[in-house]
Amino acid sequence: MSFKELGLSDPILRSLEDLKHSEPSEIQKQAIPIVLSGKNIMAAAQTGTGKTGSFVLPMIELLQNQAKPYRKHVHALVLTPTRELAAQVRESVYTYGKFTSTTSAAIFGGAKIFPQKSKLKKGLDILVATPGRLLDLHNQKSVKLNQVQILVLDEADHMLDMGFIHDIKKIIALTPPDRQNLLFSATFSPEIKKLAQSLGTNLVEIAVDSPNSTVSAIKQIVYKVDKNQKSNLLSHLIHSEQWPQALVFSRTKHGSEKIAKKLNAADIHTATIHGDKTQGARTRALREFKEKDVRVLVATDVAARGIDISNLPYVVNFDMPTYPNDYIHRIGRTGRAGKAGTAISFLSIDEQKFLRGIEELIDSKIPQKIEEGFKPTDKPESRSKPKNFRSKKSGFEKRQAAKKGKGDFKKSNTGSKNRSSQNKKKGSKAKTRWKKGKGA
Ligand code: AMP
Repeated sequence: MSFKELGLSDPILRSLEDLKHSEPSEIQKQAIPIVLSGKNIMAAAQTGTGKTGSFVLPMIELLQNQAKPYRKHVHALVLTPTRELAAQVRESVYTYGKFTSTTSAAIFGGAKIFPQKSKLKKGLDILVATPGRLLDLHNQKSVKLNQVQILVLDEADHMLDMGFIHDIKKIIALTPPDRQNLLFSATFSPEIKKLAQSLGTNLVEIAVDSPNSTVSAIKQIVYKVDKNQKSNLLSHLIHSEQWPQALVFSRTKHGSEKIAKKLNAADIHTATIHGDKTQGARTRALREFKEKDVRVLVATDVAARGIDISNLPYVVNFDMPTYPNDYIHRIGRTGRAGKAGTAISFLSIDEQKFLRGIEELIDSKIPQKIEEGFKPTDKPESRSKPKNFRSKKSGFEKRQAAKKGKGDFKKSNTGSKNRSSQNKKKGSKAKTRWKKGKGA
């Protein structure tokens, strides 16, 4: 099936031709006709499947023949979890719509607000925004959402993971109830389904990869390795296997800087991208990586969500992701648009539980390997208390015990018993969160 047969018109077909997108991807085949028919969709699609085109192309088609929006108004609103994804979606709007008169902009936090205000002044066909900055600009009366005809929630699962649900609800309430809704998510939890159902009726469900499945083109390997050997193993693999480029995920901002320092010291040109960096530094690191001036980009999950780097051959989970869904998102950076890719995960002894969660979610076992010279020797941490273990009493408890004397020992003991049962409760809450994470 061709793009033309899907109902797209000449100016859009021309830009697709320029981009050498000769055939629609599976999600595009399924979603484009439904979006053009004005229906609501809930689509399970990972990044790398062409999902951006599946909503941007029909949106441009629908909006190009309409009257232009009034001052400060927007006709289509795309919400994304991160600045990077917002910028990237806007870039797609620009490229797909370059032979149309579609107007668009991206607004997100961490960038100066004044230039964003001036972009909104004339009104826009398509606005791509992160929720927080959009609400800021709405509160400052710089944007009006009461003429939104199409609302897209891109990477809805990430937005919920990042705690945007209240902002999203506020934004939805500012838009007209008869708008068209398009919801995209790589994974589907009950919360996402609830959100989708709250958006409206005549919801059409689309799934290209079954939700929670990993992209089949990606080769996955787990390397068992000691925690303190991970950096050495990474530079060894990059050198010995001559990786042209790799995106490395670290659990923390501090960790990502440490990895970059080690790799740079090993003559592997590395940049980092995380929440402590300025927007300018993040954009520059991403650009240099895309232009292949930088060989390795070390990122935290939040910073790397949704970023599209074509021909990325390797993704490395330096730390196993705590939430199984993050595994799917992380490795989805490679193996894009049908290309091959390898996803490598470093597993230290304390991370076994995370691997179990991931394998349960993807419903398959990931092959494990030990690299020569990196045989793990770490032992699992013993759960038993050390010999000189003494339960710590709070200052308050000590004072109470001193006041009441030895006779009351039993009583104060009961207090600590209560506390330990509280701790147990806390533990069970943490477990529930972990379970939730798996489904999120
Ligand atoms: P996405 O899943 O939207 O992040 O897209 C992933 C990559 O696939 C992007 O680099 C797109 O430019 C590319 N792409 C999207 N649609 C097509 C298509 N029909 N043919 C070839 N490449 C595509």
